[in-house]
Amino acid sequence: MARYTGPSCRICRRESKKLFLKGERCSTDKCALTRREGPPGEVAKRRRAKESGYAIHLREKQKLKRMYGLLENQFKNYLKIAERKKGVTGEILLQLLERRLDNIVYRLGVAPSRKSARQLVSHGHVLVNGKKVNIPSYLVNVGDTITLKEKSKKLALVENALKEEREIPKWLSFDKKSLYGKVLAIPKREDIPVDIKEELIVELYSK
Ligand code: SF4
Repeated sequence: MARYTGPSCRICRRESKKLFLKGERCSTDKCALTRREGPPGEVAKRRRAKESGYAIHLREKQKLKRMYGLLENQFKNYLKIAERKKGVTGEILLQLLERRLDNIVYRLGVAPSRKSARQLVSHGHVLVNGKKVNIPSYLVNVGDTITLKEKSKKLALVENALKEEREIPKWLSFDKKSLYGKVLAIPKREDIPVDIKEELIVELYSK
C-alpha cells in the first residue's frame, strides 16, 4: 500500500486528535484541530457517532500507525516482533517505535516532525556511532550516539527546529551546541509521551 501523501491535518481531523505531524504549527492556534474540531465531512461525523467496539480498536491502531508514519505491513511487523518478546506486548511495541532512528532524531528536536526527521535520515545527514545510517527504521540501542554530519548541522530545517524549546526525554541525552545525542536507556511506558491505549491495538490483532 502506498504511503499517504495528502494533507497531514486531515489525518488528525479524521482521528479527532492531535497527532503532531507538522512540527511547530501543531502547538499553535494555526493547528487545524484547534480551529475546527472533528473528522472532515458530515458523513464522517455521523459515521463516528455510531462507532462499534471494533472501530474503536481500529481507530487506536490507525492513530499510532499514523503518528509514526508507518504502512500497515511495517506496523504489523513491529507487532509480531513485540509479541515474540517477553513482557507487556503493548509496551514493547511502543518501545520499538520509539527506538526508530527517525523518531530519535525527532525526539532530540533536530527535526520539527517525524516526517522531516525521516527525510534527514534517508538523505544521509545522520550519523549513528560516527557512521552514516540512512535507514529511518534503524533501531537504536542503549549507548548509541546520534549526531549529524558537520555540513548538515547548518541546514535551515535543523537550525529552525533547534530554535523550538523541546523537552528531551529522560532516556536520551542531547548537547544542543554540538548536536550530539545519546541513548541512555530503553524507555519505559511512562517515559513515552504517546496518548494511546496500546492494549486495544494488541487486542485488535489477537482477535
Ligand atoms: Fe495535526 Fe499538527 Fe495539523 Fe494540528 S497542525 S491538525 S496537530 S498535523
